[in-house]
Amino acid sequence: MDLSAARQRVTELRRLIEEHNYRYYVLDQPVISDQEYDALMRELLALEEAYPELRTPDSPSQRVGGAPREEFAQVRHPQALLSLNDAFNEGELLDFDRRVRELAGGPVEYVIEAKIDGLAVALTYNDGLFTLGATRGDGQVGEEVTANLKTIPALPLRLRRSLPLLVVRGEVYMPKGAFTALNAAREEAGEPLFANPRNAAAGSLRQLDPKITASRSLSLFVYQVISLRGATVFTQTGALDFLAEVGLPVNPYRVLAPDIQAVLAEVKAWTPEKRAALPYEIDGLVIKVNDLALHPVLGATAKAPRWAMAYKFPAEQATARVEGIILRVGRTGVLTPTAVLTPVRLAGTTVSRATLHNEDYIREKDIRIGDTVIVQKAGDIIPEVVAVLPERRTGVEEAFTMPERCPACGAAVVRPPGEAAHRCTGGLACPAQVLEGIIHFASRGAMDIQGLGPAIVAQLLEAGLLHDAADLYYLKKEDLVKLERFAEQSAGNLVAAIAASKEQPLERLLFALGIRHVGQRAARVLAGHFRTLDRLAGASLEEITDLPDIGPRIAESIREFFAEPRNLAVLEKLQRAGVRLTAAGAGTAAPGTAVPDTTAGPLTGKTFVLTGTLPGMTRQEAEKLITSAGGKVSSSVSKKTDYVVAGDKPGSKYDRARELGVPVIDLEGLKRLLEGKRSWRREDLYDRV
Ligand code: NAD
Repeated sequence: MDLSAARQRVTELRRLIEEHNYRYYVLDQPVISDQEYDALMRELLALEEAYPELRTPDSPSQRVGGAPREEFAQVRHPQALLSLNDAFNEGELLDFDRRVRELAGGPVEYVIEAKIDGLAVALTYNDGLFTLGATRGDGQVGEEVTANLKTIPALPLRLRRSLPLLVVRGEVYMPKGAFTALNAAREEAGEPLFANPRNAAAGSLRQLDPKITASRSLSLFVYQVISLRGATVFTQTGALDFLAEVGLPVNPYRVLAPDIQAVLAEVKAWTPEKRAALPYEIDGLVIKVNDLALHPVLGATAKAPRWAMAYKFPAEQATARVEGIILRVGRTGVLTPTAVLTPVRLAGTTVSRATLHNEDYIREKDIRIGDTVIVQKAGDIIPEVVAVLPERRTGVEEAFTMPERCPACGAAVVRPPGEAAHRCTGGLACPAQVLEGIIHFASRGAMDIQGLGPAIVAQLLEAGLLHDAADLYYLKKEDLVKLERFAEQSAGNLVAAIAASKEQPLERLLFALGIRHVGQRAARVLAGHFRTLDRLAGASLEEITDLPDIGPRIAESIREFFAEPRNLAVLEKLQRAGVRLTAAGAGTAAPGTAVPDTTAGPLTGKTFVLTGTLPGMTRQEAEKLITSAGGKVSSSVSKKTDYVVAGDKPGSKYDRARELGVPVIDLEGLKRLLEGKRSWRREDLYDRV
């Protein structure tokens, strides 16, 4: 490759990597696997090595992470929170060791730790109390997430020893079980899935509402002392002991290696089975120089310390034969093709199914029934078919086509324009959709009907006792006892559990109805605002989209839901059965009537949007001030926003407010409003010059 070709490729690689960084670090929604990303980065590093004239300080190869999200207050780290250099094989570990010994001037001892697949945070304890928590961000500036971190049970709010100052670095992670449950719930709600536990942890910690973080079962391991007053540590193992002693959660795995040969032996000992047995995800091992006095001697590049190296586990792959392709019909009618495989061992488990996502995926990879394929499982992720081995074809393989009719009900299958998924049009007439819909209705996050699991729902449908979810409320004990598996007692229990669910709060019912795109969070916002099902049914599109976190897609599907006569019939049946269709304390005012606010105060009826860093106050504290004075905080600016409160470095919301003529005030202006003073003075207006 000549210089000009190299320059072109370097530009292209930087553009691609920046794009993936943005999706990964800012949106928490990567679109390529970590292995594919690492391959792009290594290609860039190799070109920059071969053509040093192409090196620039702003290349993604020289930088850490992504920009902090502007919705959060920003924290400048007292000491940069760097990334780690990667090694993918023994040779690269030996190179690392050689460089370390050269710089250290002699043999060194290493400590091996698990590389927890989460996101890095810095935690500050003053006089033993947890006072500040921030994400790594771009290494220099992170996002202030103290309130969110406080919801993590593993994080001690007070240390067991009162030290004047302790700043530590650790990893917030989501245990495998919590990750699987979260994605299952998101799938049910038609919300996008998290690609892996790390993105799920990052997405859960970087929430504006700490209540959401609290609901996500996050945990923590701490692994580095950044600043310490009142005690001294000399080695990394000593630091880990010290952190555990003051009450911080420290991962139990740690191996001391006298030299690099011992490191290599330990790396080999990490079989996929050993990794799979852990209740959390690790994507490799971290090898660190144990003597802390050597760390400043070895120093760091702009991106990573020279005293540590991450050894990354390879993604697990295996070959298997595609025995067939089956379709699963989901609650919303989506047909998901799944490969049935000859069982293979992969990353510590036996795999006999792999997702094929959709028809385009099958076509792009040209996957045929009878093919030998490569299946990959990165950590705990659902296995997928990554490639076909065409040389193994014998000529009997069959191409797969999506059926024109639903395998469950025979209704037409369509692919809506702009969507990758095929859908069954059978709606409530499709038994598979009805089954999934009722299972969802009764599920834990929805109406939470004890004892009504998938098998019982299927049995009741088969017996002709159910046609839709509302029929549940008309089931009689006499009908149930006639069925297999039911006795007097169990039939009575089920009828009682169903009756008890009539009193579930409106937000649960709204989620249970399975309106597309309405997950638990949207249901909570909608129930809180409209307070009766009638009012929501009569609301205009604009009224719905003006609510915080409710976009046009959700609003559109709510309108569609209430326009469908079959859905109205179900609602009517629910109402007749006595299911509560209003929020507690809501009146029966006509649709569109203003709903009295529960917290009355100087800001009642006013909607605020926050942007930029507010002086001396966290985002959460400002929100609390507003809501406890009766105001509402929304995440986006619209014509209905009453005030935008701008701090330092305001973002696009400021421009939007200006465009719409929404008043922009600063913190002082907000304080005046809180004191019940004049709405705003000219001089309260924030001007950016
Ligand atoms: P990294 O994940 O390779 O390693 C560094 C991180 O390891 C540290 O920041 C720290 O948080 C963590 N860590 C866990 N346990 C540790 C321990 N015991 N000691 C020290 N550190 C520990 O690097 P990164 O900069 O966080 O992220 C880069 C990686 O992220 C890439 O290699 C890639 O795998 C992934 N990525 C993927 C995409 C994508 O689109 N798929 C995009 C960007 C980044």
